[in-house]
Amino acid sequence: MPSPFLNPGASSAADQLAILHLRRDNLVPAILKTHDDENRGYNEGKVENNRFGSFPHSTLIDKPWGSQIAASHVDTAKRGRAMRGSKAQKRKAAVLEEGNGEAGDQEDSQNAATNPDDSASATPKAAPSGFIHILPPTPESWTSGLPHRTQVVYTPDYSYILQRLRVWPGKTIIEAGAGSGSFTHAAARAVFNGYQPAHKKQRLGQVCSFEFHETRAGKIQAEVKDHGLEDVVKVTHRDVYNDGFLLGDPKTGQSPKANAIFLDLPAPWLALKHLVRDPEDGSASPLDPSSPVHLCTFSPCIEQVQQTIKTMRQLGWLSISMVEVVHRRLEVRREVIGLDTEGIPRAAVFPKSVDEALGKLRVVEKRMREYRKIQKEAQSAEGGIVDGAADKENGKVNEDDITTKTDGSVESQSSTVKRKETDRTTPIYELGRLIHRTEQDLKTHTSYLVFSVLPRSWSEEDERKQRELWPSRS
Ligand code: SAM
Repeated sequence: MPSPFLNPGASSAADQLAILHLRRDNLVPAILKTHDDENRGYNEGKVENNRFGSFPHSTLIDKPWGSQIAASHVDTAKRGRAMRGSKAQKRKAAVLEEGNGEAGDQEDSQNAATNPDDSASATPKAAPSGFIHILPPTPESWTSGLPHRTQVVYTPDYSYILQRLRVWPGKTIIEAGAGSGSFTHAAARAVFNGYQPAHKKQRLGQVCSFEFHETRAGKIQAEVKDHGLEDVVKVTHRDVYNDGFLLGDPKTGQSPKANAIFLDLPAPWLALKHLVRDPEDGSASPLDPSSPVHLCTFSPCIEQVQQTIKTMRQLGWLSISMVEVVHRRLEVRREVIGLDTEGIPRAAVFPKSVDEALGKLRVVEKRMREYRKIQKEAQSAEGGIVDGAADKENGKVNEDDITTKTDGSVESQSSTVKRKETDRTTPIYELGRLIHRTEQDLKTHTSYLVFSVLPRSWSEEDERKQRELWPSRS
């Protein structure tokens, strides 16, 4: 089945991952199930319960991506609790009938009987009726909602890293450690070369992912399977410091022939000895012999960076550079325009009460009506416009030329209407002043990124071929 990350299709499907968008900063990944693992006997599938209501998976499947989904009318969470409650009651009643009940049990069971929640099992009550949106999974949304097992690489970093590593469709990238799989998903999308017919021998694109923590390696492997990424991502449980990057056996295994490498490890310099063209122990090189290899390491401390760069230099890596991605989201908007006590439009004069705000709005509306009237008059006034052909055409009044009288009415300062900015068709106090604000609370794990390149290997054979291709240059 195609991966929803790589080919999401037009709508959600059963047994596939979807992202439930509760709010911009609250994305919940869910594999849509037509059956409930708890087997409660409802035909609504699994149920997502959140502050916006209950969302049975039956209402989420086969929906065009981006659909708004209304909460179920039945409070399935409450009903579930009530069901569990009444099952517990039945169990306790059975125990009491057998004469094994204790006083404490009896009390509990009486409580359960009078528990208002239990009435919900008979007649389920109306649920809170909010809504959510259903979105196709992307590496970005997965990163926002994934279960964190480790620190993860966030979107601002991995998008920069992947483009610096020149990871594009058909490439092979080595990644260590896989951690929570945040980078893995982004890399999988970047290398994916489309679903190739069997006869085409093009490279599919490959992510060779290494993780030495057994549980984490198992979890990422399961996620890769659940997300339909098995053809693209190969997960290996391995300590890469000791055992390197070959696929299969660490000594005799197959070379991934990687063009790009990303190391998110505590001591990346310890792994570098395996990333060479001719390993000392005679094993195969994990690198692609026919292309340069681009490397990036991701380390939070400058001491780690220094150690990594020292080892890179010793091993012949070139073009070494370090980058720190400091990502800020800028909120750009137009600022509310108020009027000062004289009724003059002025930015950021915020009203103190609703009445004051309404009063000011009325003045603004009145000013706008009068302003437009002046514009009309100016258009019809013969020879009244003197500041260029464009001005003559649009006949706009420069608001600098308008004075506001104390009663709130406006008049043009001059009988000759001027306009300095001919391209401005909407008065500034209609649009508001353009301002921006920096988002303070940004979720990004900042680290130092060290980039370098290992040139492609060059043999006598390569030299001979080059001479054949370019005889005049030899
Ligand atoms: N890049 C990951 C992501 O985006 O989710 C997070 C990686 S996490 C910060 C570092 C991982 O490296 C941990 O899961 C750790 O178990 C793994 N690791 C540490 N030493 C390792 C080694 N010698 N070989 C393989 N993995 C290792």
